[in-house]
Amino acid sequence: MEGVKFDGAAERLVMKTQCPFCSVQCKMQVIEERPKNGPPSYTVVPTPNVASEGRLCVKGINAYQHALMGDRMLYPMKKLDGQLVRITWSEAYAWMAERFGKLQQCYGMDSIGVYGGGSLTNETAYLLGKMARLSLGTKYIDYNGRFCMSAAASAGNKAFGIDRGLTNPLSDIQLAKCIILAGTNIAECQPTLMPYFLRAKENGAMIIVIDPRETATAELADIHLKVKPGMDASLVNGLLKIVLEEGHTDMRFLKERTRGFEEVRAHVEPMSLLEIAEITGVEEAEIRRAAIAFGRADTGMVFTARGVEQHSDGYMSVRNYINLLLVTGKIGREGCGYGAVTGQANGQGGREHGQKADQLPGYRMIDNEEHRAYIADVWGVDPEQLPGKGVSAYEMMEKIHEQEIRALFLMGSNPIVSNPNANFVQEGLEKLDFLVVCDMYISETARMADLLLPVSSYIENEGTLTNLEGRVLLREGNRPLPGEVKHDWKILCELSAALGKAEQFPFQSAEGIFEELRIASKSGIADYYGITYDRLRREEGVYWPCPSIDEPGSVRLFEERFAHPDGRAELAAVANHFPKEQPDEQYPLYLTTGRVLSHYLSGVQTRRSPALAARNIESFVELHPRTAMKYGIKEGVLVQLETRRGQVVVRSRFSYAIRLDTLFMPMHWGDLQSVNKLTHQALDPTCRMPAFKVCAVRIVPLSHKTYSRISRGCP
Ligand code: SF4
Repeated sequence: MEGVKFDGAAERLVMKTQCPFCSVQCKMQVIEERPKNGPPSYTVVPTPNVASEGRLCVKGINAYQHALMGDRMLYPMKKLDGQLVRITWSEAYAWMAERFGKLQQCYGMDSIGVYGGGSLTNETAYLLGKMARLSLGTKYIDYNGRFCMSAAASAGNKAFGIDRGLTNPLSDIQLAKCIILAGTNIAECQPTLMPYFLRAKENGAMIIVIDPRETATAELADIHLKVKPGMDASLVNGLLKIVLEEGHTDMRFLKERTRGFEEVRAHVEPMSLLEIAEITGVEEAEIRRAAIAFGRADTGMVFTARGVEQHSDGYMSVRNYINLLLVTGKIGREGCGYGAVTGQANGQGGREHGQKADQLPGYRMIDNEEHRAYIADVWGVDPEQLPGKGVSAYEMMEKIHEQEIRALFLMGSNPIVSNPNANFVQEGLEKLDFLVVCDMYISETARMADLLLPVSSYIENEGTLTNLEGRVLLREGNRPLPGEVKHDWKILCELSAALGKAEQFPFQSAEGIFEELRIASKSGIADYYGITYDRLRREEGVYWPCPSIDEPGSVRLFEERFAHPDGRAELAAVANHFPKEQPDEQYPLYLTTGRVLSHYLSGVQTRRSPALAARNIESFVELHPRTAMKYGIKEGVLVQLETRRGQVVVRSRFSYAIRLDTLFMPMHWGDLQSVNKLTHQALDPTCRMPAFKVCAVRIVPLSHKTYSRISRGCP
């Protein structure tokens, strides 16, 4: 930390850091000035860097507010007779060791669950997996990144043999002549990326947006396909059919570099475009126009995000978008590639180093004997000591409900707001014998905790994060810790010591953990061995895989071969899939969910930033004025939304830019405004992604009487 005293009157601290929010990971400096007489003031200055090119969005500019001015937890607390009571760290560790030990004695090793987050640094994500498997010996660990990236991750692994969010650097976007943005609202979720797309447009690119809503991103579109929620896979079958009919296939590429094309051809050729138009809600002519535009462009890229992925067929929908790239030969060269636009700060790195139920560090698989032996050797234990595969995040909530999991250790997540079917999740958490929450704030979930542990913020906690491009970045966080706050990784080391595993957790710094992570990831798919803190300080991040410190890292993937052993990419025939829950007489509309510019995830941080909260102080439901008229809804009034799982109360907001059959509600609020009280828990059979993005809903005007009943929690 640079602390400069000047004029004997004030102290000035300059903190170099990265935005704690989305996956661009924009760099910045936060300057704190503390005059002798008067309140501190803060200035945020963007730092030039390759990904954000020196830009910051409104979230990044105001991120200091929650960290420096919010109601942070400052010391450990336990709940005693319903009241939070301050305790010491030693008491907290002793209590955890005693409670976890007793529960495991009674109910077995797997009676403890560990639940992480996609905003944790690589070092903490790595250590959380190690702590769960070694110190607690439980198989039940997963994280909220399951809800962010699992569909695209599984699709990348299966199609390409590797899961890295963007196959190309961001600078390739301006070289693409046609870009498909499917289910991704970059303008609100990753705003500093928008100039890349504007530049592509200035260079003559055609932009095709596929989204049920006219989002801020859709304003860029030359063609906007307003697909029905959950019908992406079918729409892409239509695009593929036209690409084949019009001869825009790259047969040489398909023959030399892929397998599975004939199955895809045989699958889509007999399909009826008329039928696809009917089931997707997109006119035949529009499907044809988009397919021809993409097919005949010399270069092209496809980006997908949660709008495509958060469905019970999210994995296969992404596979179909990848099919489109492969069929047209638009991957592995400049201006040609795929991008899964990660939402969370470390959505990429967080899924590579062992906090997923089926994974070990370096993207190794927990059920692979060779992989287990390698990691066991790095950790200095016998492979038999490593538990097996657990279950996905929402399935952990089911295990909690069934009381197979009796205690939960939670770090960097707010599952009561971020899981689907939130009433069920809350009921489950209420049954726990012991809930430990590590957070900066008393979130909706933390309110239920038996033990609360305060953790450091992004300007205090150093560590690496891997941005959406697969570029590993060093976040320098060096502000002194407030109160008795500890770094999350320090808590994991000290808890492990209390559980008798001090020897395997000797770390004194994030860099020390990263050194072990390098070795643990060596020769894995996500190979970080060639990356060091020194390199990250010198260079503007390093792309993985990077197997040696002499290598630059892999900037653009698949230029010569895909990552499968035979070097080929795999196509897959994708069925026309329908959402598990369709509108009917009782619940006649689709509900889809998403984000707004000023908030991040479950809003625990952004709702505490006054400047961000002021922009959207409460949630809302967006609906078409004609839909509103049909159901007797006025603009700006409180309305009730109901599904088979729950009900919420929000204010109506009219928009001509949404489908007549669809309502939209953002995801950043809890309690009475928690959209996840409504969402469906159906899981994708491959990646276990819940179907957040579509369910059947009804909307009713709210009387005073009903509001009073609901706000008291009555059914
Ligand atoms: Fe950059 Fe994303 Fe933070 Fe905005 S929210 S400043 S785009 S990292």
